[in-house]
Order: sequence, then C-alpha cells, then structure tokens
Amino acid sequence: MTQCSICGSDLVSYYDQNNSKTVSISGKEHTVCPSCSTKLDSLEKIEEALSRKVAKEETEKIEQDRYQHMVLTTTSAIDGKVITEYKGIVGSQVVAGINVFKDIFAGMRNIVGGRSKQLQESMRKMRSQALLELKEEAFSLNANAVVGIRMDFDEYAEHMLMLTASGTAVKVQ
Ligand SMILES: [Zn+2]
Repeated sequence: MTQCSICGSDLVSYYDQNNSKTVSISGKEHTVCPSCSTKLDSLEKIEEALSRKVAKEETEKIEQDRYQHMVLTTTSAIDGKVITEYKGIVGSQVVAGINVFKDIFAGMRNIVGGRSKQLQESMRKMRSQALLELKEEAFSLNANAVVGIRMDFDEYAEHMLMLTASGTAVKVQ
C-alpha cells in the first residue's frame, strides 16, 4: 500500500489515492497525501518537508548502523583499528533475583546436570543484558567501540546475584 512520505499515513481511500501528489526529491519519487499537500500549500514547502524527512531518515540509518556494528571487547585494543578518542568509562549493573540464587545452591550441591545449566543460562542472559547496556551508554557518548570490558559476578543481598560490567568507550577508525 502506498503511504504518504510526509505523515506516513496509508492512502486507503479512492479520494486519497487520486488526489495525492508525486514529488521527486534527488531522483527519488515520493507520494504526498492530500491532507499534507493542503497543509503545506506550495510545492516549495512540500519539497522542503520531504528533504528534511529524507535527511532525517538517512541520519537515523547511519546511527542504526553505528549502533549495530559497535565493537565490544575485553582487550584494550582492537586489531587493525586505531583508537582516536577516549569517550569515558561506561558501566552497568544487572541484578537477578531469587530463582538464580536457588539455582546456584542446586548447582553447588549437584554441579552436573540440568540445574547448573539453568544457572549458566541465567548468567549468560545477565551478561548479554550488561553488554547491551554498555553498548547503549557508549552510543550515547558518540563512541563506536567499548574496549577493556570487565565483568564480575557478586552475591548481592541474600537472594540475589549482581553482575557488574565496565569498559572504556572509544572512537576507533
Ligand atoms: Zn501526509
């Protein structure tokens, strides 16, 4: 279904489909719904709005790529890359509740078998959550990598397990 390139609404009705405008911005065709056309009232303003929209989408795509391709490593350097800026230390704490704690005791009594697998799975989830948080914080600092990542599991209160993770957010080239 065709959508308005400005407001994103679906052009469902016969009226919308037949009264929408097609505007070309840097070689790409965009559809503009009748309501947006009326609101913006001139072709110049429509083009301006579309250009802004296109530029915003491109920026978002670049940001998304940067986020997805962020390198996370326990080493202090990245092979083949040069650290150009240090953006600061990033950290996260993930606390898991009573179920994990029960599993630890089960694991201590019976280290082999399903129970310890459950514990490993919980710890794996905690690690990926912690890494995700490091990544988010590094991203907000405009970094594209986190080096020197350290992670420690500690007992936290009586029925909880805490994972502390930290690293240095950097910009690499
Ligand atoms: Zn519209």
